[in-house]
Amino acid sequence: MLTRLDGLEQEAREAASSAGDLREIQNLRLRYLGKKGELTLMLRALAQIPAAERPMVGKRANALRDTLEQLFQDREAHIKKSTAGSRWERERIDVTLPGYPFALGQRHPLTIVLDEIKEIFIGLGFQVATGPEIESDYYNFEALNIPEDHPARDMQDSFYFTRRFLLRTHTSPVQVRAMEMQAPRLPLRIIAPGKVYRRDDDATHSPMFHQVEGLAVDRGITFADLKGTLLLFAREMFGPRQRIRLRPSYFPFTEPSAEVDISCIICAGEGCRVCSQSGWLEILGAGLVHPRVLEVSGYDPREATGFAFGMGVERIAMLKYRVDDLRLFFSGDLRFLKQFR
Ligand SMILES: [Zn+2]
Repeated sequence: MLTRLDGLEQEAREAASSAGDLREIQNLRLRYLGKKGELTLMLRALAQIPAAERPMVGKRANALRDTLEQLFQDREAHIKKSTAGSRWERERIDVTLPGYPFALGQRHPLTIVLDEIKEIFIGLGFQVATGPEIESDYYNFEALNIPEDHPARDMQDSFYFTRRFLLRTHTSPVQVRAMEMQAPRLPLRIIAPGKVYRRDDDATHSPMFHQVEGLAVDRGITFADLKGTLLLFAREMFGPRQRIRLRPSYFPFTEPSAEVDISCIICAGEGCRVCSQSGWLEILGAGLVHPRVLEVSGYDPREATGFAFGMGVERIAMLKYRVDDLRLFFSGDLRFLKQFR
């Protein structure tokens, strides 16, 4: 009987190791361990062998049952694993196939315009300066000669954190910071692009928008330098036949001050709906730096003079691309944004 058990084990091992799929393993289970399986029948036949041999043979037969069960399980696991492997083989990546098209982003229209503005002024010898968007009352107003009772300080127009700190309402504080850092050394030529914040929200106003501030301080700077610089900017930005017009205006931090218009880019000055039949479009504010602003920033107004200007980037972009609703720039609508290269 022991010899038969040994033979059976040998046979089952060979059969299991040559089994190629799960069904074969299942058949082996039935063949050896099923109700009428070979080992099952031998276990039943134990009753007929002599009582003296029975315990030893019984032990061997029971152990063989466990051995075979383990053997079939192991083979089963092995088959499952190698089947998974061959599926990997079938689905492996073919690096020679053409790839899926990948959506490539592009610059935001405001970034395009901002980059263009920077290019122009860098070409004229200006450097790019930046300042904090959370600004103190001192830099945003006081140092720019904006008195306590000026309407720009109104809580209705600005976003205040505390009485002393607010989101900057213009990029002009960067003028003061740049002068403080450099004074009394001359010359100083900077542009300061960045975000500014005001409590406005409609088709032509957004609570957050972008400005570019320009400042030049040197000996003997005059209004003619300002006008020449802005004319060159207008022609670089909107075309070589641009004209500009300066109208007297008021800003606390410049004296004299001017609103600057360019000839209408739609009708070239003939008069149309966009320019309200005037032939002109307002694009920025400018002036000669107020002597008090120079003085608080560390320059001697008897020695140094300067000009400053500030423009809205959205306004320039709206004119350049003929966009009639400023909110489109911030809507995140790809149908709109994809039009700009
Ligand atoms: Zn026009």
